[in-house]
Amino acid sequence: MLHAHELLCAEYGAPFRFFSTKDALSELISALLSHRTRNQDSHRAYQQLRAAFPTWEAVRDAPTPAVEQAISACTWPEQKAPRLQAVLREISTRCGGPCDLSFLADMSVAEARTWLESISGVGPKTSAATLLFSSLRIPAMPVDSHHHRVAQRLGLISAKTGPEAAHAKLEALLPPDWDAQQVYDHHEAFMFHGQKCCYFHTPACGRCVLLAQCPFGQARLGRQPPAAAPSSAPTA
Ligand code: SF4
Repeated sequence: MLHAHELLCAEYGAPFRFFSTKDALSELISALLSHRTRNQDSHRAYQQLRAAFPTWEAVRDAPTPAVEQAISACTWPEQKAPRLQAVLREISTRCGGPCDLSFLADMSVAEARTWLESISGVGPKTSAATLLFSSLRIPAMPVDSHHHRVAQRLGLISAKTGPEAAHAKLEALLPPDWDAQQVYDHHEAFMFHGQKCCYFHTPACGRCVLLAQCPFGQARLGRQPPAAAPSSAPTA
């Protein structure tokens, strides 16, 4: 796994610059809006939500149709608006009033993930994105559909391991002392590889830097008897 990490980091030019400086709660809301939505649409929905309401408490307490209108650029605003408000209410209740997640900085990665994932509708990808991408920079690793597909083809996880279960299995392979930048580089490098080479339908195995260590690619090119051919449908 570490050899694949090094090859992909070299291939795609790590270290990668963090794309977000949002606080943790803003990152959580952004992640919830982005579910099955194109990046540009979820970004627009987020910007319009921020423009319509001065604070997250105002979003929490607003009439739901007003929130739905503000996020109309993303998919399923009628489902996401009440979901966002329920998440904000739950955070307020647990924190005794304010909508703020900065206290997660004082927790371990596992504790912070557990806290977030105990909120209804927050899964491992959303919790990891909140912790890693936000200004908290906590080294939790999100696994998107590209990362998941590449990991399956390399045999890092089995063909039966779904995206949610993949988080714990792939995170367990990381060196425990890796900092947020190293985890971010790992996530980004695997994601880029899925986007630029290890395509869902016709992976470009002939020009892949991981071919020598990839059972799926070796089998595709007829270099050894076919192994199991895991693949996951793209979801994002
Ligand atoms: S060899 Fe092919 S299947 Fe394996 S990681 Fe590379 S592109 Fe993907």
